[in-house]
Amino acid sequence: MLARTLLVLLFIPSPYAKSQQIESPAQDAPTAPKPVIADYTPQHRFWDRKNILLFSGVAVFRSLDYASTRNFERRGRQEVLIPDDVVNNSAGFASLEAAGAATSVGISYIFHRTGHHKMERWLSAGHIGVTAFGVGWNYSLKTTRPK
Ligand SMILES: [Zn+2]
Repeated sequence: MLARTLLVLLFIPSPYAKSQQIESPAQDAPTAPKPVIADYTPQHRFWDRKNILLFSGVAVFRSLDYASTRNFERRGRQEVLIPDDVVNNSAGFASLEAAGAATSVGISYIFHRTGHHKMERWLSAGHIGVTAFGVGWNYSLKTTRPK
């Protein structure tokens, strides 16, 4: 019973833990600098509300890009940025869009882990912006049908 109580106490965060951490650098500073890893405190969880919204936005606009590319192709236009054999293969093109979204999330994660939380958010925001522009562009292209 005592062992279990001690075990439980070990996992309860001490209310003094923070104040002890704040006091210790002043005492230790001249002799032993704290390792960098000890100072690492994440500002937020990676999968927090904002990131989930941003990544969903990236996924939505990637899907819209897919749909709008298919749309302008049906209207007789050609994709100019990606080779035809990729675009004409539905699964291949969908995979490319998914890979684009996944890469974006992966780079955001690297920014997050290296403490660049603003860049982490802006990458997704920029991705959404650029893709939204592309989607608007695709839908704005004039229909050219062979006469
Ligand atoms: Zn972050």
